[in-house]
Amino acid sequence: MKIAFIGASGTGKSTLARFIAERFNLPINPVGSRSVAKEMGFVDPVTGEGRPYDVDRAHRMDYKTTLNWQAYSSNLAYAQRVFGVDAKEPIEVTAARYAINGGRAVDSTTSCRPLFQQKLAEAKIAWETRRLCRNRHDENQREDSCDVCGHGLLDPAFVTDRTPLDDMAYALLHCPGVVTEAFRDRAYAHTRTYDLVFYCPLAAGQWLGDDAARVGGGGGANRAETSMYHWRCDVLLQGLLLNSGTQYDSEQDGVACVEIGEHDLHDRKTHVVASIEANMARNAR
Ligand SMILES: [Zn+2]
Repeated sequence: MKIAFIGASGTGKSTLARFIAERFNLPINPVGSRSVAKEMGFVDPVTGEGRPYDVDRAHRMDYKTTLNWQAYSSNLAYAQRVFGVDAKEPIEVTAARYAINGGRAVDSTTSCRPLFQQKLAEAKIAWETRRLCRNRHDENQREDSCDVCGHGLLDPAFVTDRTPLDDMAYALLHCPGVVTEAFRDRAYAHTRTYDLVFYCPLAAGQWLGDDAARVGGGGGANRAETSMYHWRCDVLLQGLLLNSGTQYDSEQDGVACVEIGEHDLHDRKTHVVASIEANMARNAR
């Protein structure tokens, strides 16, 4: 079973996804903004954690130039002088570091944000479309049967705390140019492959906690701007859901999108579990 949560930042998606993963013994998709930022070299030097907001501070051309120089240049002395290359440092880390500190001015079109949004959407879909052997031998097999034990490969079952529509909404808010027709159609098509999509509306509540990056989402200078940023995200997600071809708030067979309108956490959990069990019962018939 493939279960996804969609909604603006802080609307409780991750909390519910973790709860469902444990309750139904399903893996959680680990691909997120932190893991992709880390893969691109945007890491906290102290904790080793990915730092997704650094992509906004990095110049895309500096990032790519650095990668190319380290990858293709045999002139290590030159690279060391220009980029401060440390032989032990992974190439992406040098590139990210140089792109942030290189000094070139960035805005939402010249920063690494478009590259990051693209990679994020791709990595997410790749993880969710990989096929598994029944004995979980290799997560990356692409053939019809397992190389190790010969079993046929199965579609994965999982929970994810965001859909490609969430990725697309953030791309539309931060760097709309990256959303091509192909990007859009792929996001729509992939969203239709979920068995259940749970929409967490902003109106039901928002729990931003004290994470500075989330509280200041969208770079809002004050509370009113930040709240309008989250509102833009919420209405975008509603529109994308309606346009994606998922069956909104439907009890029909196949993909259904269910709105979790309750505010109380216990009520939300009860609603989600009841929907999943009803979907399972339908599919078993
Ligand atoms: Zn196998």
